[in-house]
Amino acid sequence: NVSRINILGIEPRAMPDALVISYAPGLPDSAFEHDGQITKREIRALTISALAPASGQLLWDIGAGSGSVGIEWMLMHPSLSAIAIEPEAKRLNRIAENAAALGVPGLQLCAGAAPAALDGLATPDAVFIGGGGTDDGVVDTAIKALKPGGRLVANAVTTEMETLLSVLYGELGGRLTRVQIARAEPLGQMHGWRPAMPITQWVWIK
Ligand code: SAH
Repeated sequence: NVSRINILGIEPRAMPDALVISYAPGLPDSAFEHDGQITKREIRALTISALAPASGQLLWDIGAGSGSVGIEWMLMHPSLSAIAIEPEAKRLNRIAENAAALGVPGLQLCAGAAPAALDGLATPDAVFIGGGGTDDGVVDTAIKALKPGGRLVANAVTTEMETLLSVLYGELGGRLTRVQIARAEPLGQMHGWRPAMPITQWVWIK
């Protein structure tokens, strides 16, 4: 039950089942419709922090999936804008629905695969690569497109993407971080740690 109650200024207690949309990034994964391909809440919080939104800035969310990163970027401040780039039609629809449900219907959609789909988009202050990063020319195009001072944040789940990020880190510097989250889940009568796949994150400032 997703509701914009805190945006509308209604007391959360008035709707006990409603999701309160916090000012902080890292909303629960269940706040978004998704098909499993979603940046998990803990990683998303780190990702928004690394993207470092500042007043009036534009984000390219490449491989937007459910749109969670672009949506949380826009939720940081009304002056922010974002373009979600995603080739799969089903996911594009889901992005639009999630954006509307979470109170940022202004999230822009770009149907298609990077790098071709990036042609002609407005110059970004920050670029997130959550998918398609190993496709030819995606990282190069993002680096070229960024404004001076712009941030590039790329998350790798696959070893192929991780290898690419290691090379980029070697050549261009920045920060390379590896994060693994484990969540406690029921295990018989008790609980145990269920690890998620580790993420390697490269953050580079132009
Ligand atoms: N960050 C997203 C999850 C990304 S999953 C979220 O939080 O919901 C990776 C996505 O990248 C998939 O939806 C896939 O369709 C998309 N993708 C794959 N190759 C791509 C490319 N070349 N350009 C843009 N998107 C791509």
